[in-house]
Amino acid sequence: MKPKSSLIISLVMSAATAIVIAYSKIHSDESSLILSVFTTTVIILWIIFATANYIFSLSHTSINTNEISEIIEDLNTEIVLWTNDCSAVFLNKKLRELLGITTSDFNNEEIIKKIFCLDEINPKSINSAIMDNYGECHFCGADGTQQCIIWSTSILKQNKKFSLYFSTGFNITQLKQVQSRLSDTSERFNLSMELSEIGILISQGSQKYFASPEMMRMLGLKKPEISFNEFRCLIHPNDRSNYDRHIKLLLSDTALSAEISCIEIRVKSHDGTYRWYSYRFKAIEDVNSDFPVIGGAFLDITMEREKDLLIEKLAYVDEITDIPNRNKLVKIGQETYECCNALNYAYWVIVIDIDRFHIVNDTCGYESGNKLLKNFAHNLYKYISIGGLAARISGDNFAIIIRDYGDDDLPQRTIELLQKDFADLAVDEFSNQSFTCSAGYSKMPSDGNCFLDVLEHAEFALKSGIDSRCSICAYESSMHDAIIGDNELEKALSDAIDNNELKLFYQPKIEIATGKFMGVEALVRWIKPDGTIIAPSYFVPIAESSHLIGKISDFVLNEACDQNMLWQRMGYPPIIMSINFTSDDFYKKDLKERVFDALVRSGLNPEWLEVELTERMALRDVDYAVFQMNQLRDLGVKLAMDDFGTGYSSLSYIQILPITLLKLDRSFIIDIENDPIAYEIVSAVIKIAKSKKIETIAEGIESPRQATILRETGCDYAQGYLYGKPMPADEIPAFFEHNASERQVF
Ligand code: C2E
Ligand code: MG
Ligand code: MG
Repeated sequence: MKPKSSLIISLVMSAATAIVIAYSKIHSDESSLILSVFTTTVIILWIIFATANYIFSLSHTSINTNEISEIIEDLNTEIVLWTNDCSAVFLNKKLRELLGITTSDFNNEEIIKKIFCLDEINPKSINSAIMDNYGECHFCGADGTQQCIIWSTSILKQNKKFSLYFSTGFNITQLKQVQSRLSDTSERFNLSMELSEIGILISQGSQKYFASPEMMRMLGLKKPEISFNEFRCLIHPNDRSNYDRHIKLLLSDTALSAEISCIEIRVKSHDGTYRWYSYRFKAIEDVNSDFPVIGGAFLDITMEREKDLLIEKLAYVDEITDIPNRNKLVKIGQETYECCNALNYAYWVIVIDIDRFHIVNDTCGYESGNKLLKNFAHNLYKYISIGGLAARISGDNFAIIIRDYGDDDLPQRTIELLQKDFADLAVDEFSNQSFTCSAGYSKMPSDGNCFLDVLEHAEFALKSGIDSRCSICAYESSMHDAIIGDNELEKALSDAIDNNELKLFYQPKIEIATGKFMGVEALVRWIKPDGTIIAPSYFVPIAESSHLIGKISDFVLNEACDQNMLWQRMGYPPIIMSINFTSDDFYKKDLKERVFDALVRSGLNPEWLEVELTERMALRDVDYAVFQMNQLRDLGVKLAMDDFGTGYSSLSYIQILPITLLKLDRSFIIDIENDPIAYEIVSAVIKIAKSKKIETIAEGIESPRQATILRETGCDYAQGYLYGKPMPADEIPAFFEHNASERQVF
């Protein structure tokens, strides 16, 4: 309590005493007398105590503040002058600023407790605060920062009850902060060295290095010193010359001031294996020696190196055959192309396709298929000379690049040898099955403006050869003439659509077991005004590459539904009408609506419409294809997989596509009489389809023998010239008539 307030309380108490005495005088009974005597005694004692306290404190604080405060007020350190009872406390300006005190009116006790970190003020705690000279006191400054002061206290005056202390502070807040930052940094430094596996190697003199603990761990060193030569011996023999070259360069005078060197080398690690390190090092002059100080950091990059190798492998190596893939071929091919131009060289680019490769996959399984691809791939290397390359560029397509030495027959000869080798290889390895391959080739740089051009031209030649049943085909620029004609064809086709020159022909489909006519496939024809009939395989691809296909497909869909309904209206029993869709039609968002509209408009029950799509179409985006197919299935429309067996990975997709019918491609049927493999494939496919409750139809049946064989294999339906070529609608009623006469059509 402050002396002034004690005095005020005393005065108030005196007044109260006076009132009490006056009261006792008026009510002079015994109890009130005792009370008034007691109260008066207490109050008088209090007045004596408070007055003495005030006079006493006034006397000694005035002495101290007057004499000392002026001296200490502006000193640049925290100073406090205080009494043991806290009746007087003087803080100098520096300390007041630190505590944010602007007036002299503050709570003495609280301030003393705060700055000396005392829980309470009593002789014991004061004594320990004074004795604890140089102990750190932490408290919060006015700006909210944690302050740390070491107080040094001396006793200026002391008697029995009263002590006057003089405490000077040594503010070590900033020092503490620096210290903590320093210890943090060095700890972090050590930790990050360990975590990031950075090893440090610093030369000591001209003979040896000094290794950091992490470096010792990396290399399995027992002591931190390692001689230059010992360290060099740990470097992989193939990387030593690189290391030597850089060190030599570093030690040359001019290089001393140069940038940091960085090399990637393999160094033998503690377990005896070589690991990859990124070694960043630099030399600086040593003032005490002629030899500079070489300092360097080692970072283990083995994982990154392995990842890079793996990425390179994934990007450029074919997974199945382990030979370069198309990406690698294009990369190396382009470099070779540039080289051809610069050095006047020439190369041949040969593209090879394994004929009917899918048969191996389907009959012998994928493992055998992969084995055949591997054998084929490795056989190719026989024909590669220096600077050449062999690559697998897609499913069963390979390419080789061979150097031309002015012999124009080289590609033809090479391909023939390769074909013979492959035929032998297949016979040896695949239980006497015979396989063939076809090839197309082009020349670099004359056959294209870049390597990709040349490659595409070789592929173009291959395709042209396959179309014309020729197993070796050289690229010729005249091959493009057919394509150049496409633009004109597109225009003519557009006119044909507008002039209603498109007509549907219908090919009958027969139930093999009964010989009954059960449906038709609608096949579009372009009938020119002069009566020439143009086949869809000629104009549908052109229409597909332009907007025309949408118009054609709408025509086919509506016309086919109308025609089927017309036959029903004519009194014939319902049959299934199949229509073909292109990939673009099939992936259109409004596919379901278009089919639904055609059904509603024609009045045809959905169960009499079947949509044919090819495996290639479904594979474009399997998930979306399944979605679209389910949309059609929801309508009640049937779904057939057309040309089954011409794709690459046929059988696996039967499992996931919601189809109702499988159309075996004509290429199987052609050989079925003489080729036991074709027969095996067909019966296997039919069995699998049956197990999945999918019906089967064979396309392209031309002979009664083929029909008999197919009946034996359990095939459900047949379609082919044997029963009828695609024909105009008015010829179909004859098939209904045959059914009606209860005779077998065939
Ligand atoms: P596809 O759907 O596989 O049609 C079967 C093709 O095989 C038809 O040729 C048919 O005439 C032919 N064919 C049927 N039986 C035999 C036979 O016993 N021997 C021989 N050698 N051939 C037979 P087409 O009509 O020339 O059609 C060829 C392809 O054009 C069709 O193959 C189909 O993919 C496409 N196509 C036909 N019409 C349309 C159409 O309206 N829209 C679409 N998007 N494509 C169509
Ligand atoms: Mg078809
Ligand atoms: Mg077909």
